[in-house]
Amino acid sequence: MSCPHCQQAAGYHADRPRTVVSLVGTLRYQRCYYYCRRCGQGLAPFDHQAGITPRHLTPALERLATLAGGVGDSFARGADLLQEMGGVRLSEATVQRTTEDVGGRIAALLDQGLVFGPPQAWDWHRDARGRTVAYVTADATGTRQQGPGGTSAEGRMAYVAGVYNPAPPDWLRPGQPADPLRARYLAGLYELKELGPLLRRQAGHVGMDAADVWVALTDGGSGLEGFCQQNFNRADLVVILDFYHPASYLEQLARALHPQDEGAAAAQAEQWCRLLKEEGGATTLAVLRAWDWPARKSAALRAQLEAVDSYFGNNLHRMEYPEYEAEGWCIGSGVVESACKTVVGQRLKGAGMRWGAAGAHALCHVRALYRSEPGQWDAFWTRKLTKSKVYQLN
Ligand SMILES: [Zn+2]
Repeated sequence: MSCPHCQQAAGYHADRPRTVVSLVGTLRYQRCYYYCRRCGQGLAPFDHQAGITPRHLTPALERLATLAGGVGDSFARGADLLQEMGGVRLSEATVQRTTEDVGGRIAALLDQGLVFGPPQAWDWHRDARGRTVAYVTADATGTRQQGPGGTSAEGRMAYVAGVYNPAPPDWLRPGQPADPLRARYLAGLYELKELGPLLRRQAGHVGMDAADVWVALTDGGSGLEGFCQQNFNRADLVVILDFYHPASYLEQLARALHPQDEGAAAAQAEQWCRLLKEEGGATTLAVLRAWDWPARKSAALRAQLEAVDSYFGNNLHRMEYPEYEAEGWCIGSGVVESACKTVVGQRLKGAGMRWGAAGAHALCHVRALYRSEPGQWDAFWTRKLTKSKVYQLN
């Protein structure tokens, strides 16, 4: 063997035993062991060729342990899941390190400009005028971080971004069932400027260029609209404020108006949300400004009124919901929010959870890949990687 560290000859030393854990239990085998005198390091090339992990797991068990670590509510629950479903007992720490190693590998591959699976041409759904429409989204979510020595540290923002092809609204496909959502997600403790090329690459890989209309759905979070404008800079890019977010402002306002009466709050919220959907942001804001508010407002109501006023005021240009709906475009109220919740929130924001930055970043990658359309997860594990040019904008 030539030594991978110094390229000098490393002589055969002996056949040595190795014990690994596989899906069918513990396996023992003998393999050739080489030794480099110059580096003082031993090597067993078979282990590498067979894909044995640094924690001595077989590739199939690594894949299953990562799945359990990624989808379980915690790594301890992941270890339980693995035992329940695979009959293999690994420690919580092994499930955690394995999952995080894999997440780190996914991140490194993306960073090298690789995309999983062959290029695709998604069959973009059509809007009311028969134009094909592609959607992108980005959102931020907080994660609690662990500082040195287990102390709590400043929370870091994880970004979740995606390109997706949602089924058109019911009235555009009468009697037809909705196709399942196709989506590709990215998530991690990235800066927005780092996420841009990664998302463009995914978008290029699924043929976003071929869509007639591009819609960018985000909430009012800092920098998100600009992120979409910069990275998907068609002159006619449609930017929409995800309906879920202004609606949740209205729900909070209704609760502040009727703090003691849940029923009245729900009815008021529904009325305002209908107004927002049917008349748009500007009319809703005008109606709220002219509302017959109680003469003596609680501090909570005053605060929420101010919040609504500034949130709506800043986003009116992308709250023209009746027009978007007439075009047959999706106004959100689901995909962004559920992406954030399911990709990152559900797993990283569990009660009492704190994360090191590297661990959170790694786990975000495992979950984003697993939540992406069928085939993505498998393409990573079966090493179907495609070198993709950074997306050419047009
Ligand atoms: Zn050497």
